[in-house]
Amino acid sequence: MSEVYLPCNTPNCHSTPRKITVSTARALSEYRLRDDPKYIFQLSCSKCKKNTKYTYEEITSMLQPEKRPQSLPYDHFWAYVLFDVVAWKKADRRAYLGGRMLIQRLTSEANGDWYGILKSLSPYAPTLKTGNYVKGKRRGKYEICLFVIEGGNPVPIPRPPQILKTESFGLFVSLKDNDSELLCANIFCSNPSCHHIFSTMTYTKFSALILREQLDENSYDEVTFQPIIKLECPVCGTERVIDEGSFEGLYKEEKQGV
Ligand SMILES: [Zn+2]
Ligand SMILES: [Zn+2]
Repeated sequence: MSEVYLPCNTPNCHSTPRKITVSTARALSEYRLRDDPKYIFQLSCSKCKKNTKYTYEEITSMLQPEKRPQSLPYDHFWAYVLFDVVAWKKADRRAYLGGRMLIQRLTSEANGDWYGILKSLSPYAPTLKTGNYVKGKRRGKYEICLFVIEGGNPVPIPRPPQILKTESFGLFVSLKDNDSELLCANIFCSNPSCHHIFSTMTYTKFSALILREQLDENSYDEVTFQPIIKLECPVCGTERVIDEGSFEGLYKEEKQGV
């Protein structure tokens, strides 16, 4: 499908200033709105010399409906199925690998435990099927899927023979003695209804990339002058722009440890 560029809005100009795609403009808008909630995307046209302003909603409405980020239904959420990384070398921390599974919540308990129906498959829980009843709990900021209900009883989700590093896995790290401090090291797709985790995009990778690309003017945000990197989700196609601040609240490992 051909790229759709953001148009100049001057009547009869028909120009597409800077050949910026609607998808990229949405990602840039989303990124700048994080620090400036009043931010409005602007393009200055070299043909008619006028400025066009676009709100985030206007840009999003120019995307085809199936390309727009979608909210999850109110009772759906992403839970993580995680397994210990046995080879993790840091004595004071515990590391896990895993991916996301979509859950429809049935009940929640006061202690944070929940019970729900599995709505998606995961290579990290290959024996589970959609429609299975599952149980889990919150750990830090993340919901963790721990049990599948079999014959009325919660059975721990079996560890697959091999913990695969798919293109959508996350690395999670917690303090050995405090699981409530669980942090993910990876950037997520910014489409709320997409399961994708940018497996290779950790803070270490980001730091290495901006160092390597520091001479390229396209790797700086023109408003904030921060080094930025544009990511495109291989699952849903949503673009996301990240900077140093995108790793706020994520685990910043000193070295690739796994
Ligand atoms: Zn124009
Ligand atoms: Zn996605």
